[in-house]
Amino acid sequence: MTEILVLVDHVDGDVKKVTFELLTLARSLGTPAAVWAGPGYSDAAKARLAEYGAEKIYIADADEIGDYVAAPKAEVLAHLVAERSPAAVFLAATGEGKEVAGRLAIKTDSGVISDAVGVGEGFVAEQSIFGGGVNVHSRVTRGLPIITVRPNSTAPVAAAGAGAEEKIEVALSDAARAARIVERVVQEKGGRPELTEAAIVVSGGRGVGSGENFAIIERLADSLGAAVGASRAATDAGWYPHQFQVGQTGKTVSPQLYIAAGISGAIQHRAGMQTSKTIVVINKDAEAPLFEVADYGVVGDLFQIVPQLTEEIEKRR
Ligand SMILES: Cc1cc2nc3c(=O)[nH]c(=O)nc-3n(C[C@H](O)[C@H](O)[C@H](O)COP(=O)(O)OP(=O)(O)OC[C@H]3O[C@@H](n4cnc5c(N)ncnc54)[C@H](O)[C@@H]3O)c2cc1C
Repeated sequence: MTEILVLVDHVDGDVKKVTFELLTLARSLGTPAAVWAGPGYSDAAKARLAEYGAEKIYIADADEIGDYVAAPKAEVLAHLVAERSPAAVFLAATGEGKEVAGRLAIKTDSGVISDAVGVGEGFVAEQSIFGGGVNVHSRVTRGLPIITVRPNSTAPVAAAGAGAEEKIEVALSDAARAARIVERVVQEKGGRPELTEAAIVVSGGRGVGSGENFAIIERLADSLGAAVGASRAATDAGWYPHQFQVGQTGKTVSPQLYIAAGISGAIQHRAGMQTSKTIVVINKDAEAPLFEVADYGVVGDLFQIVPQLTEEIEKRR
């Protein structure tokens, strides 16, 4: 079967979960070949990629690749596309993944589909648009299908691949060196999972009422091992940091379970969470639009419901 290139998303040598999702998806449509671009490759990374079905691992681990923003990764992929004529390229629909995809599309005169929530036979991609109200199926008709896929859209399933390594060297162009990374700051992280990768997200909105009150949202999240999200009303009010905003101008999440407390369900919020697998809405207003997309709805005061829910979950752990 023809190769499908999967750009490995990695931080400090750790392969991010979305890569395993992409490999799983690629396996259903062809032969997955992982592409490692940047420093940090190790035997442990190889083992993880092979565990999820990478038949081949192309390694471009020159330190220099990590020194510049996005462009070198697009050059590594373009080199492989020219050499190996893959059937498609899959990337994570993250900020970086989308930028690499766009650059690769220009370099290879191909079409790009962004933010897919699934890819089927013939590389027909499914996108969820207008706040999840409409599903679109589209296919690249020019060049190679380059598709960025939303994290959490596919359940990662292990299936051993050969993991045959092949080192590649790519001479970066001057253009790829245009934007250098001058500093990296490690963001303080608590014990919670990363918002866009979390299997469970608990979000609070204006109904939470204050920054201090977000403690009850955090407690529920911690009882479930979940990430915390917030609506824009809550982040704009300074109750929760902006990096946790879910929605059109915030993060896109697609967890197995999304619990929204005190969030009305404006289209801009829905745009960031409507592809969640199971949605639980807690709101005292039975007419709140978010109930339209809820799998389970609780009409009531979040200050009563959220602590009770946390207590029940803690009892059962
Ligand atoms: C260009 C643009 C981009 C935007 N991007 C985003 C985005 O990325 N993310 C985003 O979230 N918004 C975004 N917005 C804002 C969006 O339109 C809404 O204003 C926002 O989502 C509202 O947040 P909310 O639901 O928390 O607040 P509200 O709409 O005020 O809803 C609060 C809800 O809490 C309920 N409530 C109150 N008290 C309680 C209680 N004690 N118990 C239970 N329920 C209670 C109320 O019934 C109400 O439904 C954007 C807007 C624009 C114009």
